[in-house]
Amino acid sequence: MTTIVLDPGHGGSDSGAVNGSSFEKVFNMDIALRAREYLLRNYDVDVIMTRTADSSLSLPTRTNQANQAKADYYCSIHINAGGGTGWESYIYNGAVSEKSVKAQETIHNYVMSQIRPYGIKDRGMKRANFHVLRETNMPSILLENLFIDTTFDLHLLQNKMFLDTLGNAIGEGLARALALPKLTVDVPLYVVIAGSFSTLENAHQRRLFLRNHGIEAFAVATEVNGVTKYRVQSGAFRNRDLAVVRLDVVKKIGINDAFITTR
Ligand SMILES: [Zn+2]
Repeated sequence: MTTIVLDPGHGGSDSGAVNGSSFEKVFNMDIALRAREYLLRNYDVDVIMTRTADSSLSLPTRTNQANQAKADYYCSIHINAGGGTGWESYIYNGAVSEKSVKAQETIHNYVMSQIRPYGIKDRGMKRANFHVLRETNMPSILLENLFIDTTFDLHLLQNKMFLDTLGNAIGEGLARALALPKLTVDVPLYVVIAGSFSTLENAHQRRLFLRNHGIEAFAVATEVNGVTKYRVQSGAFRNRDLAVVRLDVVKKIGINDAFITTR
């Protein structure tokens, strides 16, 4: 499976760029979490965050994390400062792989296509000698998401709808650059049913019996051929082998009418 490292820049005692009560580190985290959410909701991918809390983290710690995890791609998220306006992306200005160049094009063009309607200026695809770009063993990118000290840009960064657009666009850009497989919507769940009853009371009795044996279970009402049945569900698994193991456990304590069904 493809592994992406999302790196919300700065954190803890290092706020990054500041404008009044607006901190770069906070925006970086907000955008990274939205991108992660989008990726995990839509694609078969692993996402590692260099930080999920407001903690201080050195640059080597960030890149070591990615290198040790042998991640496939590294994306650092920042907010610009210095009085300009717009959006830009960076890759390393030394030797980089063809894959790195192509990924920047894909991500940059996709994100711009989504945020341009907000009136955002495209500052271009750039290259620089940044630590996180130089010291990562995998293709990497650093995004400068608007300027914290420019009113027009800051207002957008304070707009939740815009942040959603931006976070989703970064997620989708990464997915396209890495050709991530779409998550199959209907991955079956293997559910262990430890008994099916006509009355809720009997289902509760069965549930208590299981609980007394240390097996988690709960009752669910199900329509079977127009008749309500109370099923005692004891576990739901993506992996069928795990469901079979649970079924064996349930049968060992004497519940011989247990079975596996899919949902
Ligand atoms: Zn920064």
